[in-house]
Amino acid sequence: MSVSVVETKDPRETEALGAELAAGLRDGDVVLVQGELGSGKTTLVRGAARALGVTDPITSPTFSIGHRYRATDTTVSHLDLYRLSGGLQAEDPALLDDYLGPGRIAFVEWPALDSVALAHARLRVTLTHAGADRRRIEVVRG
Ligand code: ADP
Ligand code: MG
Repeated sequence: MSVSVVETKDPRETEALGAELAAGLRDGDVVLVQGELGSGKTTLVRGAARALGVTDPITSPTFSIGHRYRATDTTVSHLDLYRLSGGLQAEDPALLDDYLGPGRIAFVEWPALDSVALAHARLRVTLTHAGADRRRIEVVRG
């Protein structure tokens, strides 16, 4: 396990960090992205998805738990589990099947930490407000 911490000073730097992280991802990987509302989770995912070749606009899922985007060599899944207040265990276990697994790289915002499917994440990213436009971003690998 390795931990790194960076501070970004604007959304572009957070997107750039997302792009950097994307370069180390492989088919089937899951990236957990935690942090308060407005901390920059979707911004980071946007940077990562762009770097993987997604050209569609990356927006927060609102009517479903996730979006899937065609990327260069893969499908990018972007899930937002924020609304699952009962946690994943209260949901149909098949809920995530369309989003995780071979042929996909998945970014999951606000993961409930109770899911086996999510226990094998390659990266866990935690964002915190650090004053004005600054964000502290911790990345745990492995
Ligand atoms: P979340 O998905 O965590 O709710 P978003 O990425 O949707 O957060 O929104 C983050 C908001 O904060 C955006 O309006 C973005 O422009 C702003 N922002 C300001 N500074 C930063 C920064 N350093 N990194 C990321 N977002 C930032
Ligand atoms: Mg978001």
